[in-house]
Amino acid sequence: MTSVLGLACRECGRPYPAEALHVCDFCFGPLEVVYDYDEIKKKISRESIEKGPLSIWRYHELLPAHETSSIDLRAGFTPLVRAERLAQELGLGELWLKDDTRNPTGSFKDRVVAVALAKARELGFKIASCASTGNLANSVAAHAARAGMSAYVFIPSDLEHVKVAMTAIFNLKLVAVDGNYDDVNRLCAEIASEHPDWAFVNVNVRPYYSEGSKTLAFEVAEQLGWRAPDHVVVPVGSGSQLTKIHKGFHELEKVGLIEDGHSVRVSGAQAEGCSPVATAFAEGTDQIRPVRPHTIAKSLAIGNPADGWYALQVVRETGGAMGSVSDPEIVDAIRLLARTEGIFAETAGGVTVATLAKLAREGVIRKDEVVVAYITGNGLKTVEALGDSVGPSVVIPPTLEAFSAFEREQEGTKS
Ligand SMILES: [Zn+2]
Repeated sequence: MTSVLGLACRECGRPYPAEALHVCDFCFGPLEVVYDYDEIKKKISRESIEKGPLSIWRYHELLPAHETSSIDLRAGFTPLVRAERLAQELGLGELWLKDDTRNPTGSFKDRVVAVALAKARELGFKIASCASTGNLANSVAAHAARAGMSAYVFIPSDLEHVKVAMTAIFNLKLVAVDGNYDDVNRLCAEIASEHPDWAFVNVNVRPYYSEGSKTLAFEVAEQLGWRAPDHVVVPVGSGSQLTKIHKGFHELEKVGLIEDGHSVRVSGAQAEGCSPVATAFAEGTDQIRPVRPHTIAKSLAIGNPADGWYALQVVRETGGAMGSVSDPEIVDAIRLLARTEGIFAETAGGVTVATLAKLAREGVIRKDEVVVAYITGNGLKTVEALGDSVGPSVVIPPTLEAFSAFEREQEGTKS
């Protein structure tokens, strides 16, 4: 069994049973999973984890669902790659990239969905649902298909073509809503109360869902040889992923898997066209003012981020920073990452790399730090964002003469 004690309100601490609940009846604070860490400490070791499956389920003791109810698409345990060429370009030292483009549906969302739907199955749900900016839709659709569950997925109608196709292919009810993500999310909160028999991964099973992001910290620590990095850079949409990565490193300390007392600085990355958390950080306020998103980084286009306040606190407490970058900077960063490291990231990855570069220039991220940047989604999902900036070097007729002319021209441009 997992060592879950139940849920508790993050604000007032009131306890709740480990059921499909997400908000405190008394203060409307969000609920969070509570574990018995002493019990977990007795059960796990570095060795037992290293013998586990090559997926997030190697950390099942620190997750709120049992491995046996998991839906096996192999979410997680993605590569952590040393990025020497990118580090050199940015003037950084030991830089690593967590390559979550390699997940089953091409984004980190497979981690949270795998946990949410495993828990949903334990609770007896037959229907999966979500409000999504795209990546979550892809993942819920695929995992529901694999589990033989029905699914209702709600998306903004202006989503990237690939994200729509990658959801619809799994044969579910896909509802495109004329509005932005915040509109879709508001609608889903209403639908969720009409349909208590649906597992809305980011509504009524959100406390379990969000725990899946902790595996982004667990894996990094294990892959670094059971040590925490000095500084991490995380893209911020709802803010949940950032807070859970922070929580993940703390949990590893609590259960004795990594050395105690090494504080990880956590920095967050947003697109300028949707940067409510970065704006609050820059203004030194706790007030996160909702915005109307306008950016190519659609997976991060959440104007009213549910965990924005918590993300802001983590960034401040750990001595990190929030950065925001423009759409052209995002595209340049996608190209920089591809050119230096051979990784093709979606726009959110461009946001992370561009912010990494910015914070390095500003001296916030230092050369003597071990840095991990989270690349959370695959570039094939957001090809439109690249526009005319990608294409063939030249178009020629099928003759050697034409190719030789092109070669000579290249030689010319070199000198
Ligand atoms: Zn409460």
